[in-house]
Amino acid sequence: MSYKKPEVRGLGHHLKAARHMTIGTMRRDGWVISTRCPRCHLDCWVDLNTLVRLNSSELRLWNRTARCRRYSCSGRMIFLATPPGEVLGAFWALQDDPDRPRAPGGTDQAA
Ligand SMILES: [Zn+2]
Repeated sequence: MSYKKPEVRGLGHHLKAARHMTIGTMRRDGWVISTRCPRCHLDCWVDLNTLVRLNSSELRLWNRTARCRRYSCSGRMIFLATPPGEVLGAFWALQDDPDRPRAPGGTDQAA
């Protein structure tokens, strides 16, 4: 197996790998992360250097949310990402499809 640079691995590879990826790996491979509040639609950039410093490089963003940064909004922000090699500004949500029914017991099978 030969090494492939992150930016040539393809979107399908990245979207499959994203659920297991740590922020340390995302920072190394050049992912761009932002957040969006579904309630007030506030978008924020996420600085992976800061996130690693405040948490740990082992943190995973898949299915995580964060408190909305807008004053008096009680929404929970979801994480969005642009994988390396993709057009900046095209974001994919780092979460399971909320409309897809989950398997009972939390053992969600990948599609
Ligand atoms: Zn909000």
